[in-house]
Parts: sequence; C-alpha cells; structure tokens
Amino acid sequence: MGDLPPGTYAELRRGRKPCPQCKAIIGAGRKRCPACDHGFGTASAEVEDEGPVRATVGSSRVVIPGTSSQGAGDLILLVPNGGAPADLTGDTIEAVRKWLRVVVERYTSTNELSRPALTVEALERWARPFHARESESQMRVKYVLRSLTQEEIVRWLT
Ligand SMILES: [Zn+2]
Repeated sequence: MGDLPPGTYAELRRGRKPCPQCKAIIGAGRKRCPACDHGFGTASAEVEDEGPVRATVGSSRVVIPGTSSQGAGDLILLVPNGGAPADLTGDTIEAVRKWLRVVVERYTSTNELSRPALTVEALERWARPFHARESESQMRVKYVLRSLTQEEIVRWLT
C-alpha cells in the first residue's frame, strides 16, 4: 500500500475511476491523473468545437429512423451544431425515452432541406451538458443511449 503514487487508490470503488493511460485508480472528479498527468475530456472537447459533422451511413451507426429529410440521401448527423432541441431532466431509462421522443419530434419538424438522419452519437452529445461532467448520471444516460438497438428505438418512438 505504501508505494502507491499520491492521489491514487488500491481498489476501484464508487467515486473513483481508472486512468485509461496508466491504469491507476483515482478520484472520479479529477480532470488530470495525478500519477501520469493524463488529461480527461480534452479529446471530446476538441471534437465539440468542430461544429456539425455529417457522414454517410455506416453499418456501425445506430440511426434514429424517420429523422432524415427527402433531400438528405444517406447523410447522418454525428456532431450536432448547438444544444439539444429539448431539455433532459433525469437519468433514468424513462427520462431518456421521453426526452428522445421530444428531441426527434422537434428535430423532424424543422424545414431543413437536406436534414441528415440523427444518430445515437448526436443524441449523446446533446444529452451530455444536462449532467455534471463524468458524473454517474452522465455515465448512466450515455449507457442507456449506447445500449439501445435499432429495434428498441423504433419501439420507443411508436
Ligand atoms: Zn494515469
């Protein structure tokens, strides 16, 4: 126990997280690993500044059905420009489900000519600011969205 670097722990528990770079177990709130100086959240912050990113449909993407407009072809939206069309007020499956329905409704009601289809990635980015960075709630919402299958989304929307 005595040879652990300062700011690190011997076991993973609630309120702690492993560093992806050096595998040290550190406090969940840390922005930087005290053992190897790895910074958290910097990569995603860079992507967020790029603005809307559209891509063509790939097999690995979960696309929200019915969200593209006629002129969009097989374009999909990965990184949305601006905030979510609706506020997410919880972190339960039910909260995410309600939110997703309103988001899809509002997204599809815009008159954009080549509106790309929404993806789970885009929804994840929209959902992120509603909970504290790297909090359990944020992780839970991310997990709910990530584990959704195409069939479940169809069921959620009908
Ligand atoms: Zn580290």
